[in-house]
Amino acid sequence: MAGLAAAARARELGAGIVVHEKGDRPGGSMYLSSCVVWRYREFERFREECAGGDPELQRVVWEGLDDALAWLEGLGAPVVTRETGNPLTSGVRFDPMGLTEALARRAGDVRLGRPLTELPDGVPVILATGGFQGDAGLVREQITPEARSLVLRANPWSTGDGLRLARAARAADSVGLAEFYGRNLAAAPEIASADFVPLAQVYAKHARVENLAGDVYEARTWSEIDVVQWTARQPGARARYVVPDDALAEPVRERTVGEVIEVARAAGAPVERRGGETAVEVVAGITTTLGGIAIDPRGRAADGLWVAGADAGGISTGGWSSALASALVVGKIAAEDALGRL
Ligand SMILES: Cc1cc2nc3c(=O)[nH]c(=O)nc-3n(C[C@H](O)[C@H](O)[C@H](O)COP(=O)(O)OP(=O)(O)OC[C@H]3O[C@@H](n4cnc5c(N)ncnc54)[C@H](O)[C@@H]3O)c2cc1C
Repeated sequence: MAGLAAAARARELGAGIVVHEKGDRPGGSMYLSSCVVWRYREFERFREECAGGDPELQRVVWEGLDDALAWLEGLGAPVVTRETGNPLTSGVRFDPMGLTEALARRAGDVRLGRPLTELPDGVPVILATGGFQGDAGLVREQITPEARSLVLRANPWSTGDGLRLARAARAADSVGLAEFYGRNLAAAPEIASADFVPLAQVYAKHARVENLAGDVYEARTWSEIDVVQWTARQPGARARYVVPDDALAEPVRERTVGEVIEVARAAGAPVERRGGETAVEVVAGITTTLGGIAIDPRGRAADGLWVAGADAGGISTGGWSSALASALVVGKIAAEDALGRL
């Protein structure tokens, strides 16, 4: 998201730009996502939820989002709904394929299969490689010794290139390198990218969450980001959700807990009946690292270098806010600043 948004904005401002894309298609994890681009309704709530983040950066994302969403719509990005389904937040859900096409069309020169491997001299660069969740070595070093057991719930190309390139240019690390956003997934034998949403188990508040040794964890956030972060640090990055029968009818977005469990069972995940309860085995899926490079409110990380999207940390620290929202707003601002238009 961040790289295409920056490129589209730069092109709109008349710049000749090139997008280097490591993958064989544009859109990165945005293309695989549910594509809800959102903010907390109240800034104070954002601060409470993500208390470790930089308030100035958070303010920039929060204040910039509504205009940025209108800008996306103006580019022709198809809207699915203007509801997030969460009373704490507001935002827009786009069709991810249509959004990718609209941004790539405006960005123009997107060169697929062409990773950026070093920073060119004398040319402003906006790094937006999508975080380091795809590099098990970096994940083990920064997040969990169970890195190899995690499911990569993201595009395969975001392997920390931005972090390495920015560090080499003497940019500083942000806070929160040990934090990530993800989902616990039903522990099916095979999990393809089309399963990332249907196999997500987001009903910890209706369950007893325990690791496979029986140690219990009390969920504490609405987004359940704490639950997946805890699971990632358990043996095998696995846990069990034990659901009492009377919770099976509880809603989880447009499904019920019972329907979500049936999809897990059908995919071959371990699902067991135990008296009046159902136990579902889950494995932590890592979607986006939340720590990365430190940036200022214009996205600057070093001389001639801007960093946006999941490569930049310090926005969601301590909790969860929309990664697509920060990628969009910071990507746009970085392009404007790089062209001296802020
Ligand atoms: C199933 C799923 C559901 C999600 N739902 C939501 C949601 O509803 N709302 C939300 O806010 N977030 C959601 N997310 C998270 C969100 O999609 C990502 O956090 C977001 O896309 C990050 O934006 P980005 O620009 O940093 O990275 P990306 O969108 O992943 O883009 C990074 C790009 O950089 C490329 N790249 C990597 N290395 C290099 C290199 N060296 N040179 C050139 N290119 C490189 C990658 O190939 C990729 O195309 C979801 C993610 C998934 C997988």
